[in-house]
Amino acid sequence: MICLLIIMNNPDDLARGGPGPDFKLPALKKNRMENSIKKPVILVVDDEPVNIEVLAKILQPDYRVLFSTQPRKVRELAESKEPDLILLDVIMPEMDGYEVCRDLKSHVTTHEIPVIFVTAMDEEQFETIGFEAGGVDYVAKPIKPFILRARVKAHIELKLKNDLLKKIAAIDGLTGIANRRRLDEFLRQEWGRSIRQGDVSLAAILIDVDYFKKFNDNYGHQAGDQCLRDIASAMAATLERSADLVARYGGEEFACILPSTPMVGAVHLAEKIQKAVADLRIPHHHSTVDTIVTLSMGVASIVPTPECDPQSLFQAADQMLYDAKRSGRNRIMYQTIFG
Ligand code: GH3
Ligand code: MG
Ligand code: MG
Repeated sequence: MICLLIIMNNPDDLARGGPGPDFKLPALKKNRMENSIKKPVILVVDDEPVNIEVLAKILQPDYRVLFSTQPRKVRELAESKEPDLILLDVIMPEMDGYEVCRDLKSHVTTHEIPVIFVTAMDEEQFETIGFEAGGVDYVAKPIKPFILRARVKAHIELKLKNDLLKKIAAIDGLTGIANRRRLDEFLRQEWGRSIRQGDVSLAAILIDVDYFKKFNDNYGHQAGDQCLRDIASAMAATLERSADLVARYGGEEFACILPSTPMVGAVHLAEKIQKAVADLRIPHHHSTVDTIVTLSMGVASIVPTPECDPQSLFQAADQMLYDAKRSGRNRIMYQTIFG
């Protein structure tokens, strides 16, 4: 009930056509916020605040409930809040639920969010349209709380399991950092983002452990594995921005992708990584460049354009890594490429 009062009592919200996207239901009071942070998030979309109140009351004990009365804002809201499930009314002015669902399903950023339609139109033909639009289920109005909770629970569990599988599939088993698959996906994403933002530099660092075969041959494979784990942790701790990615490229090679980073910033980070690994002081008495484990690095940066291939960034970094090896190892070489 408090929820409804707040929705109805805010004239600004009504003037905008409903409460704003960031509006949180009042039961999420400050002292409960911390406990609720890890709750799965459900976005409820309905043009009638009274319907939202009914759904929120049923779901709030188990979920963090966000809501919107504006169908046109749903995708934007879903992109920023990343809900685990969307409960979508079908009949709404301006844009019906099927249209909203099709829009969500046609964008990579939102297409994996499950959508359940909440509607009184439960004839077969409408259900068919809903499934064809990409919905995963239907809940009939008037709402039966037990049925709603059961359906929501089943789909949320499935979504969370899928999220977990995706996370596991993106992680390197030895070092716990991102793997090659995640690196390739991240490069594609950031390449696209740089193009959309326009004139934004993207940088990559390729990193290879010097004389690692000799390390393995002399200290054993297990010590080699531990060395790779320590290097990965030191690199991950060096990257301060959450936008950056460090990954195991393969074998004893690692890679960083640094969005919105010009060459000077990338080289600075490469130097910090070099120092962080030197500070580990991992003995390597069979290296000819030092008595500790060292790295060679190739750095490249580019302003991406639709005409050039994302792999060109790595090709350039790889060329620089090769030059770093050839000219003595334990060093950083770099080049800016022009698309
Ligand atoms: P360079 O300085 O030219 O890079 O020489 P290198 O010996 O480091 O390079 P090379 O490519 O000849 O050898 C790489 C070695 O890395 C060989 C391989 O046994 C080792 N290696 C690759 N992956 C792993 C791993 O997961 N664990 C361990 N312990 N060693 C690995
Ligand atoms: Mg190598
Ligand atoms: Mg090597």
